[in-house]
Amino acid sequence: MIPNLLILGGTTEATALARAVAEAGIAGIVSFAGRVARPVRQPLPQRVGGFGGVSGLAAYLQDQDITHVVDATHPFAAQMSRNAIAACAQTGVPLVALTRAPWLPRPGDAWTHVADIAGAVAALDHPRKRVMLAVGRMHLAEFAPNPQHVYLLRLVDAPGFELPLPHTEVLVSRGPFTQAEDEALMQAHSIDVVVSKNAGGTGAYAKIAAARALGLPVIMIGRPFIPVRQEVTTPAQVLNWVSHCATDRGV
Ligand code: NAP
Repeated sequence: MIPNLLILGGTTEATALARAVAEAGIAGIVSFAGRVARPVRQPLPQRVGGFGGVSGLAAYLQDQDITHVVDATHPFAAQMSRNAIAACAQTGVPLVALTRAPWLPRPGDAWTHVADIAGAVAALDHPRKRVMLAVGRMHLAEFAPNPQHVYLLRLVDAPGFELPLPHTEVLVSRGPFTQAEDEALMQAHSIDVVVSKNAGGTGAYAKIAAARALGLPVIMIGRPFIPVRQEVTTPAQVLNWVSHCATDRGV
């Protein structure tokens, strides 16, 4: 069997995996949703855009003779992850998820845990504060019930649409950022509270460490539910999985 991987990407971890796969001389393609204008260049071929739900992904796996799927999407990309589970079950293509553990609070952290974006919106139902809202541009409209706050938004691309929040300060910048940079940013914008998804990993952690250092509260959004699947945490474990798992498809 000659492996031909589909890596569902859009994360720092997926880029690191693509590098490891390319260096191992394994064929594969990295898939992006197309949310950012200039995705990070990959050492493997790439494709951009949705597959068209479970049936579209299943057809893609068959048309492209994909032998293994690695779901290296962000822990909050739950729809894509659910679709991958279903399409792989339908087609018999083995699936593994390259995941990262959620962050845990450390001494000095002042986190309010909320279950989802709606919980974060509810937690912001108080008089005006200066809020660093690190949830990505797709979710901004959900914060419209709290228009009183001044929101600092750090986005990969300029929004390109009218922001649904009346008081915003927008920075267009792509991470990863350092703790020192994020401390300076929070001080420069007089931030009172940080809202963050519990992404895990190192790429987005600087703002959490910065909030701790500055004694700022964090509203920490818990991860969405994803059904059980095989999971690993390092690119080396993915390569090991590829070399050991047989496919039902005999390719
Ligand atoms: P999502 O809600 O789970 O996905 C919605 C739809 O977008 C999917 O059903 C799929 O469309 C398409 N899609 C998502 N990821 C894709 C991929 N890697 N390749 C091709 N199509 C993809 O996903 P999301 O939360 O919007 O995240 C989109 C992308 O941004 C992911 O690649 C993720 O890794 C990255 N990202 C997300 C976050 C976050 O906080 N959610 C943060 C950083 C990076 P079809 O049904 O048409 O196939």
